[in-house]
Amino acid sequence: MRYLLTEADIITGDKAGRGAIAIDGEKIAGVWYDTDDSKAADQARAEFPDAEVMDLEGLSVIPGVIDIHVHFREPGMTHKGDIESESKAALCGGVTSYVDMPNTNPPTVSRDRLEEKLSLADGRSWSNYGFHIGATNSNLEELKQMPPEGRKAAGIKVFMGSSTGNMLVDDKPVLEQIFGMTDWPVLIHSEDEQIIRDNLAKAVAEYGEDIPFRIHPQIRSAVACMKSTQRALEMAMKLGTRLHILHVTTRMEVNMIEVAKRYNPSITAETSANYLTFCDEDYDSLGAMVKCNPAVKSSVDRDALREAFRNGIIDTIGSDHAPHLKEEKERPYTTCPSGMPSIRQSLQAVLKVASEAGIPLTRVVNAMSERPAEIVGIKDRGFIKKGCFADLVVLDPEADYEVKEPGYRCGWSPYTGRTLKGKISYVFLNGKIAVKDGEIIQDSPSGKRLEYR
Ligand SMILES: [Zn+2]
Repeated sequence: MRYLLTEADIITGDKAGRGAIAIDGEKIAGVWYDTDDSKAADQARAEFPDAEVMDLEGLSVIPGVIDIHVHFREPGMTHKGDIESESKAALCGGVTSYVDMPNTNPPTVSRDRLEEKLSLADGRSWSNYGFHIGATNSNLEELKQMPPEGRKAAGIKVFMGSSTGNMLVDDKPVLEQIFGMTDWPVLIHSEDEQIIRDNLAKAVAEYGEDIPFRIHPQIRSAVACMKSTQRALEMAMKLGTRLHILHVTTRMEVNMIEVAKRYNPSITAETSANYLTFCDEDYDSLGAMVKCNPAVKSSVDRDALREAFRNGIIDTIGSDHAPHLKEEKERPYTTCPSGMPSIRQSLQAVLKVASEAGIPLTRVVNAMSERPAEIVGIKDRGFIKKGCFADLVVLDPEADYEVKEPGYRCGWSPYTGRTLKGKISYVFLNGKIAVKDGEIIQDSPSGKRLEYR
């Protein structure tokens, strides 16, 4: 099938301009922009006379979102969500590719587990899929057995502080060896476990089990983030690590990362739509719903994250989509799981932030599609360029979007009732129209496995 998308505002990380895009089969076959002398649509029609023309006057085209930080809960926690249900939500929200984290049950900490997960997704994922492999204190040999060329995992995920199953890596020589694997992107969850344990013990002594949720950012404190991130940055500067710091939540970390990047330009950072949207003032109304790790911090931190998104110190925005059942989130603090579902609203929440803060759409595209593809080396995706897969979102980025239905198996979203930005008309996945007016129109999942450079 051939399509010509004409009269659209094409937004990339570099520029926004009116133009035309040709799709031939799975790939983008040409991109033209209007100039003083020629109209893109005329040129496109001349080259592709038999293509089906879609006049997108008044709409914008962006590359599909690439979300390299999701928790789809399969295997082991599929009552919360699974590859099929969550990839469907992703695609409806304009996420055409995702990379899932290894803290499933069993965790993805060996080549065998990785193969199992790849086959679980085969034929069941609505969006293009990939997986990270997890590091532990004891699987270094396993990681070293994986050739970086033609690799099957996107990156190595290291939980530097947050104890999730047996995946906490706190052994210094092990950490240094992982950080020394400079052919691999190393993605870290960065919080200091000891500080958190001490803070939690103090809170339990004061409140018992029923700790108010507003205390969460005092337990998972800014200091816990800073201490761990400082340690990671020092190692990455020394060893030349391709370090990607996940879900940065504090102003202090932004400042530290800005400096560290001058010494090691391979250091990159992520935040999520949640941290750009919420702040500690939201605990009173949303409570457990915004309990996530690291914690949502102060409005000063949120403003600093927005500024870092604008100026590029924050490279990427992932969703950190982490569904839990409502019943689970209604438990008291100490047993209430951390995390919130967000992948279906992630793009629209970021568009809302961009609109409020006057951040250009080129930055949104750079942080949500182009940089994630570059950082984990995803082949031929993330860009509107001839030869790339035609993963595209056609939308009105200025239109208000009211979140009425959460759109998740878990049945809730912290964004319900909010007015975000961006009305999605079409999502193209591998050259085919997969979503129309926010709803999936394909009969069966057609997500492809991601390949890496
Ligand atoms: Zn996460």
